[in-house]
Amino acid sequence: MKREISKTMEILEKIYSRYEKPAVRKSSKYDPFRVLITCLLSLRTKDENTEKAAKNLFLHAKTPEEILKIPTKKLEKIIYSSGFYKRKARIIKHVCKELLERFKGKVPEKKEELLSIKGIGQKTANIVLAFAYGKDALPIDTHCHRIPNRIGWIKTKTPEETEKKLKKLLPKRFWREFNTTMILFGRTICTPISPKCSICPIRRVCKRIGVKKSR
Ligand code: SF4
Repeated sequence: MKREISKTMEILEKIYSRYEKPAVRKSSKYDPFRVLITCLLSLRTKDENTEKAAKNLFLHAKTPEEILKIPTKKLEKIIYSSGFYKRKARIIKHVCKELLERFKGKVPEKKEELLSIKGIGQKTANIVLAFAYGKDALPIDTHCHRIPNRIGWIKTKTPEETEKKLKKLLPKRFWREFNTTMILFGRTICTPISPKCSICPIRRVCKRIGVKKSR
């Protein structure tokens, strides 16, 4: 099983290494704070909206102190394109406050410390660890959860369960790129509804579990 998973990941990584990376992955060329804030902005929205909002926000402020100085109404306007802008503005302000009060304005490198900040969940914490600090973390989003279940690698109900099972099956060398590869594969071929199984590069090894209709 592990051998087959490695081979499949190699095929997908090779294909998707040529694609433009998702917004949060791209933010890793900046500092950990930008990775964290971009990830918070990306929740439940499209990549282009995340990028627009992040770019706009970082034109106004680049540190927790600077973000806290922005009045909430103005912050909502700045990040409007990311959707759920009222809630996101509230979360971002709270996270910035916590970073300043408890971590001297730095984004923590420990998972338990990240998770101790209200508004930062498992996925966001793992994204910061993997993309900002290059640690062995496995960020699981909806694509990372759906696709391995469809292929038949795992049988899980929640992203948390998926993370645990995949950590046992997936060799560590694939962890860092796994999230990016699955997002791109899930957007282009193994889509949530009617996946394009007829042109899928890994169709021979996929059990297509739960796939009722495909193209
Ligand atoms: S064969 Fe279909 S269900 Fe399986 S990975 Fe490919 S697109 Fe997804």
